[in-house]
Amino acid sequence: MAAEKKHNDEKSLDAFSSPVLDRIFSGDDPGVWNLPGGELVLPRVFGFCRGVKRALIMADKAVTAHTDGHKNGNLVLLGEIIHNPWVNDYFSRRGVKILTTDQCSSCVGRYVTREDTAIIPAFGVPLEIEQQLKQIGCDIIDCSCGDVIRLWRWSEKAVKDGFGVLIFGRAMHDETVVTKTRLAAAGGKYLVVENIEQVEKFTKMIADAHEAPDLREIFGPDATNTDSPSHFLTLAQVSQTTMLYNHTQKICEMILDVFVERFGKSAAKKQLMFQPTVCRATQDRQNAAVELCSSGCDLVIVVGGFGSSNTRHLHELAGKYAPSYLIEDAEAIQSPAQLTTYDGDSDDSVSIKDWLPAKRPLKIGVLAGASSPQVVVGQVLEKLAGFLK
Ligand code: SF4
Repeated sequence: MAAEKKHNDEKSLDAFSSPVLDRIFSGDDPGVWNLPGGELVLPRVFGFCRGVKRALIMADKAVTAHTDGHKNGNLVLLGEIIHNPWVNDYFSRRGVKILTTDQCSSCVGRYVTREDTAIIPAFGVPLEIEQQLKQIGCDIIDCSCGDVIRLWRWSEKAVKDGFGVLIFGRAMHDETVVTKTRLAAAGGKYLVVENIEQVEKFTKMIADAHEAPDLREIFGPDATNTDSPSHFLTLAQVSQTTMLYNHTQKICEMILDVFVERFGKSAAKKQLMFQPTVCRATQDRQNAAVELCSSGCDLVIVVGGFGSSNTRHLHELAGKYAPSYLIEDAEAIQSPAQLTTYDGDSDDSVSIKDWLPAKRPLKIGVLAGASSPQVVVGQVLEKLAGFLK
């Protein structure tokens, strides 16, 4: 029975696999594609994580049940199942109706009926949407990742115990939007800080007991549900599951230092709680990316959706070692002279010239985020290999 289940699950993931990658990892030098003009090198861990695989298997089974005629109504996905355009297009082509964020946050009852089946993405949905779905009475397939759920549960408990919650993440990232709504529903106060500079502003506020700045003004209206820093003098800290692990360690030290400085060691111990919520899959991919990039690459290509937080962080890490380009798919590589890549300043795509160095042999590192399907990585590798023949 267990073997049969495994077989079925693997079948659900077949559409995302790549024979190119299978070949590269079964060769004498696993993870390396040697070519006359250089080598393409992959990290020891990359691509789909356990949470993403689970979500895709669940969604695939729902689609199969509908196409086999075992279920009526529409299959409605409440936002992107994961942050990868190829994967979302794949489900859309198979008849899944994908709601935009605006459609989800207005009134889900306009788009989902009792006969339908609603699919909740890997990063979950806000509590009020979950409640609306229950009222509608439709079938619900909940693909929320266990690591994300653990983050909600821990921080909701912290709220119950009287702590304000400091979230290290992007205020408008889907996962953090959901965390914020759940904390607000539990009666909690939250503040989202996106980077080390914002943590510095926060610690300065804690250090300066006499100032009473307006949090919304400093961090933006999406970052918090309170004006007053006083809610964070007893503080529980969590991170969006896909943040840079080394940054989370640094901000914990910064917060601990300022609390000890203001309140003393023993009071700080009672007033502070930290929970390491960057998930294992994110950490493993970041560690493997650093290993690969620090081995010396001429350039790094990162494959994944521009909206994927963990993919963008791989790109950020890689950029410390070599020129790094985040691309969505093989079509982004128009020629050795032209590439469409992610631009962090505009948070959009940009077309760049002469991205491929002329020197040979060339060592190109190829990374892929937890939401990047192998099939797309394989297509990118084939395209790059064409330049190293
Ligand atoms: S990256 Fe982490 S939190 Fe996100 S789906 Fe994968 S395991 Fe879950």
